[in-house]
Amino acid sequence: MGFSQDTIKKAWQSADGRCECRRISHNHPYIRCNKALVWENRELEDAPGAWELHHITDVRNGGSDSLSNSEVLCWDCLTKTLS
Ligand SMILES: [Zn+2]
Ligand SMILES: [Zn+2]
Repeated sequence: MGFSQDTIKKAWQSADGRCECRRISHNHPYIRCNKALVWENRELEDAPGAWELHHITDVRNGGSDSLSNSEVLCWDCLTKTLS
């Protein structure tokens, strides 16, 4: 399944096209990563501004595909989050 196109658009708009990651362990320059992303490059790992809409609570742990369970992450943060 995964997020609907509608949810992806809304999440992107509320994130202002920037990475929403606030994980302290990532050592962002500010509290929020805020990396500028490129809408067209969602899921394009090697592209500049690549990003993904990430489940805050993993689906395997009961997380839903709702907007409130989503966060826009740049590829760097996504990789760190998954590792
Ligand atoms: Zn980031
Ligand atoms: Zn991060």
